[in-house]
Amino acid sequence: MSTMRFQALKELLSRSPRAVQIPSNKVTDYYGDLVFNTDSMREYLSKDAFKVVMDANKKGGSIDRKMASAVAAGMKAWAIEHNVTHYTHWFQPLTDGTAEKHDGFIDYGDGGHIIENFSGNLLVQQEPDASSFPSGGIRQTFEARGYTAWDVSSPAFIVGTTLCIPTVFISYTGEALDYKTPLLKALAAVDEAAVGVCQYFDKNVTKVHTNLGWEQEYFLVDEALYKARPDLSLTGRTLMGHSSSKDQQLDDHYFGSIPERVTNFMIELELECHKLGIPVKTRHNEVAPSQFELAPIYEEANLANDHNQLLMDVMKKVARYHKLRVLLHEKPFAGINGSGKHNNWSLGTDTGVVLLAPGKNPKGNIQFLCFVVNTLMAVYKNQDLLRASILTASNSHRLGANEAPPSIISVFLGDDVSRMLDRIVEEVGDKRMTPEEKTALKLGIGRIPEIILDNTDRNRTSPFAFTGNRFEFRAVGSSSNNAAAMTALSAAVAVQLKEFKVAVDFLIEEGIKKDEAIFQVMKKMIIESKPIRFNGDGYSDEWVVEAKKRGLTNINCVPESISKYLDPESKKSLIESGIMSEKELQARVEVEMEKFTKKIQIESRVLGDLAINHIVPVAVDYQTKLIQNVQGIKDLFDKDEFEQMTGARKDLIRRISGHISAIKAKVHEMIVARKECNKIDDVDELAYAYDKNVCHYLDEIRYHIDKLELVVDNEMWPLPKYRELLFNN
Ligand code: ADP
Ligand code: MG
Repeated sequence: MSTMRFQALKELLSRSPRAVQIPSNKVTDYYGDLVFNTDSMREYLSKDAFKVVMDANKKGGSIDRKMASAVAAGMKAWAIEHNVTHYTHWFQPLTDGTAEKHDGFIDYGDGGHIIENFSGNLLVQQEPDASSFPSGGIRQTFEARGYTAWDVSSPAFIVGTTLCIPTVFISYTGEALDYKTPLLKALAAVDEAAVGVCQYFDKNVTKVHTNLGWEQEYFLVDEALYKARPDLSLTGRTLMGHSSSKDQQLDDHYFGSIPERVTNFMIELELECHKLGIPVKTRHNEVAPSQFELAPIYEEANLANDHNQLLMDVMKKVARYHKLRVLLHEKPFAGINGSGKHNNWSLGTDTGVVLLAPGKNPKGNIQFLCFVVNTLMAVYKNQDLLRASILTASNSHRLGANEAPPSIISVFLGDDVSRMLDRIVEEVGDKRMTPEEKTALKLGIGRIPEIILDNTDRNRTSPFAFTGNRFEFRAVGSSSNNAAAMTALSAAVAVQLKEFKVAVDFLIEEGIKKDEAIFQVMKKMIIESKPIRFNGDGYSDEWVVEAKKRGLTNINCVPESISKYLDPESKKSLIESGIMSEKELQARVEVEMEKFTKKIQIESRVLGDLAINHIVPVAVDYQTKLIQNVQGIKDLFDKDEFEQMTGARKDLIRRISGHISAIKAKVHEMIVARKECNKIDDVDELAYAYDKNVCHYLDEIRYHIDKLELVVDNEMWPLPKYRELLFNN
């Protein structure tokens, strides 16, 4: 008997929601309590130390050892007041999630007695033995030490009794081994390039920062059911499961009322987030049953990403308090929507202007259009790089399915902005413009409605959509580290802005007035990048055909997509801009390829095990029951009656037999295929081989299992079914 499943269901029925303590005070009373933020720094640091941290933060520099000691002392004092006993350098290796190794403050003092110690050295730099993190061959195990170094721009925070210090993670020879390092460099590159362009419009601009507002989608399932599904626990997604008779057809979950148990989870999650200074603001049900979304107010991109990484951890922890498990996988369930993580992206100046929002006057609007057009062009030239940054084994199930944009990168601009760009193409001629023409154009641009924000059509099918004051990169996966996508986008935009400036300056040197030079270069770019603009339905079959005609790329094969990191255009964006070295980029590709292979390998093993050890025995048992039943009838009735009564049953026995045989044969073939693949040494080749020779078995085996689920006695079925997983919060 399928005890696991029924025990789980029994456990589930006995649950009552965990009561949550709703704080009686205002959010502002406890917001950021667990963060060593400006307020706590002002309180715990000397004036000098405070200034040094602030400056380093602003200018992106580092802090000398002497000052680091002063900062560490203040940080320690603050932490100890919050009952902290340990500290850790918190970093983002190239795995999923973050890494930490806790060390106690406890130490021997000079007299041999125990003291609490946390020196500047420990704050600024550490050398974790990190040989087990993926490095793409950069850090051979014999030179195992990488080091972590404090990222001053992201404040330290407390989780439980541990002080967490956000750090970069670098090899001894200086190569990045994490997601944060290239992101920081990419953000700096955009800053420099964008300031150059802003100077055409406003000489006061000295810094451009990147904003990121992520929208995190996720599923919640009951813990008992989760544990009874080895595929969910080991791979993050269901590798089998027939769809529930009712799932999202009625659209009754989207924005529906949130179940009490889930609300309680959300309340507690938000409380924890707010204490950690993560400005979460929005929560709602998503389209699929048991699917939800959470979004903060946007922040500077590096900080926003740290917060997202931290959030994913906090979510997992809080879900457990409620006997729930959070699924961050992009496609935990077949047949219903998967989860993404829209990256709302914009640039802002230190003069308070959001560069991707229409301005208040013609000048502001020309600047706005400049940044829009450069973004268009950057995306157009770097379609493959952007896709490489988001297409993973898990996200590949979502992209291309009928719920997320396909693997074709296109940009939605909406009617207003599209019209404006077309107008520039029409009105800017090859000859110099007359003053009247210029005025007319500027007036037209000045009329870009300020209410554009509310007017932008909400095209939900575009992978990269303009939404009034920002672009939304929607193809990013729910489980991913946003840094990969933000690094790629920032690199592309930085290089593009630089090229733009070179082209405009060239024309200015030729004696063309600044405005006109800008218009001329923009016009060229608008024409060239035209194929990337698409305002229609990105989910439609026609778009696939149309995109091909336009010469846009469409890559669904994950290893092929990853390999595009090494294309000339990608290299130009990442290497020429100084964001990564050739070696680092190659290492990254190797890590991503390996990750892909390993994920497929694990899924394939888990499915093989479940198929042979869980499903087939049950199907055989049920088949035996049917056979015994048929034999009993044979003993009791004459031949004619027997034939009449058992025709359908015999047919069912035959079908079950067919599925069992198919499962056994396919699992065997899959194992053989894996063994063949594993003989390959080359990392890239291995990933391609897994994609071509192993992946398809996952679907084929599943097909037969799902068919069996439909006919085998419900009492005997061993794994919680979709309807149980999805409708039990
Ligand atoms: P939607 O309507 O797309 O569901 P929301 O209005 O909830 O989105 O906002 C989504 C995210 O976009 C939030 O994190 C929000 O702070 C962020 N956002 C809003 N404006 C900007 C901007 N100019 N730049 C970056 N992010 C922004
Ligand atoms: Mg959005």
